[in-house]
Amino acid sequence: MSEAVTGTDGVTVAASPVPRDNGASHESSMEVSNELAGKGLESVRVGDLSIESYAATAGRDTVDALKALASDLQGARVLHLNSTAYGGGVAELLRSHVPLLRSLGIDAQWKTIRGDDPFFNVTKGFHNALQGGSYELDDAGRDAYLATNLRNSRRLDDGYDFVVVHDPQPLPIRALHGGAGARWVWRCHIDTSAPSPAVWDFLRPYTDAYDAMVFTMDEYVSPDLPREKVSLIPPAIDPLSPKNLPLSRDLCRRIVNWLGIDPDRPLVTQVSRFDPWKDPMGVIRAYRMVREQAPGLQLAMLGHLAMDDPEGWQIYGQVVEATRGDTDIYLFTNYTAASSIEVNAFQRYSDVVVQKSIREGFGLVVSEALWKGSPVVAGRAGGIPLQLEDGRDGYLVDSVEECAEKVLHLLQQPAKARKMGQSGHEHIRANFLTPRLLSDEIRLLKSLS
Ligand code: UDP
Repeated sequence: MSEAVTGTDGVTVAASPVPRDNGASHESSMEVSNELAGKGLESVRVGDLSIESYAATAGRDTVDALKALASDLQGARVLHLNSTAYGGGVAELLRSHVPLLRSLGIDAQWKTIRGDDPFFNVTKGFHNALQGGSYELDDAGRDAYLATNLRNSRRLDDGYDFVVVHDPQPLPIRALHGGAGARWVWRCHIDTSAPSPAVWDFLRPYTDAYDAMVFTMDEYVSPDLPREKVSLIPPAIDPLSPKNLPLSRDLCRRIVNWLGIDPDRPLVTQVSRFDPWKDPMGVIRAYRMVREQAPGLQLAMLGHLAMDDPEGWQIYGQVVEATRGDTDIYLFTNYTAASSIEVNAFQRYSDVVVQKSIREGFGLVVSEALWKGSPVVAGRAGGIPLQLEDGRDGYLVDSVEECAEKVLHLLQQPAKARKMGQSGHEHIRANFLTPRLLSDEIRLLKSLS
């Protein structure tokens, strides 16, 4: 371990130059002094949900089976630990998952680690490198990563039966903390099948300390991990969250119109963090190709600028530049309007929802759009093909040109587009709703206890 790690207690971290929302896990100088006063990790407050309300969408039998499954874990203390309270799929998942575990009698909590911009620049580099991109890991990066994890490990309280650590940001915390009697699970949401060797060589030893690891798909598992420790569990969406609950067509129309969209002209939407792997530039190019054949077409791009993704600001700047003066392209962020209800309205009201990912963890947005019965054109990447059967529930594409061609096809064939959306809805109902995810996780925890 490096010198920077052993000497971290007095570190002062400058406040961020960018605006940050409340509830975020970003460090400021003041927060660091709280930390030095012995404050624990930040808990994320979630609402109350009842598993009973899921019987109507997921089925009575499913809910009863889930309750029976959870009966052995009554009162078990489960901590979910990640790096951000909002922005991106993990935060989206946990916001429903944690209260539903509680509703099943499990004492679940959600906490976030704190980090500063240098830390999150390193972890975004890791994210890219694990997905096969390039990232130059230097000593300063290693030190920033380990020092932040060490600080967070000292703030982590004991007394849990299970700790589920999400993604690479807090990965070393298990080794640094020491364990304290809990069973530890590393839940990796990204594709580590062909990681950049330098980054994986550095990270992989930290996986050894875990009792189990969870990946979305078999193909994501790096070949050098011990398979007996690996479980495969794809994520899921919450059909009752504000992001997904039913909204009338009229309300959706009013919401998109209020944000400037002409509700009587066709609309294509992508909802994604501003991230190169989500290919925002490809979306703009595809849209411009389609518009030549479909005059009046509008494009909406909604993107959270997530707390643990500093690169998002830079990509967002590029997208603003690329679309300047194009009055039929609308950009929304969480600083303007990309919160759950707006995302819900856009996913429902759009003629086609696009998710032109080149690399992807799972791509919850695909399930979200299909659940709403909207036709989807999506990149053949990561977990997207699990959610969408090509030609039945929508289209999978491999290029900008193909994306444009399929979007145009669906715009020209609205009846077929609707049918595909309905088929997608059924596929999501059967496979990607929260109760299935809860069952899978509870089964895993039981197998470890
Ligand atoms: N999301 C959102 N507003 C945005 C962009 C994304 O609420 O402006 C949500 C989106 O609806 C989804 C999650 O963030 O629930 C993104 O998860 P996904 O798995 O698609 O991608 P990730 O960001 O985790 O790579």
